[in-house]
Amino acid sequence: MADAPIVPLTLAGRHFSIMPCPGHLQYQCTSSRCVETATHRVLSRATASTEWLCDAHTLAWARLQHADVARSATAP
Ligand SMILES: [Zn+2]
Repeated sequence: MADAPIVPLTLAGRHFSIMPCPGHLQYQCTSSRCVETATHRVLSRATASTEWLCDAHTLAWARLQHADVARSATAP
């Protein structure tokens, strides 16, 4: 996953929103045991929490919310 391209997702749903990290901020992905640099900020309205996720975990998280991002995000 280290060579995965950065996918700048901006998504907003009823219960969440996803946006690219501001460029000057460097966070480590907050998903468990992940060592990637976070590329997206994920806000969950259900839990009022903020997470910082890498590309792979952002996509995985979005899929969990049943967001239809898989096709557009992985298309060549
Ligand atoms: Zn991650």
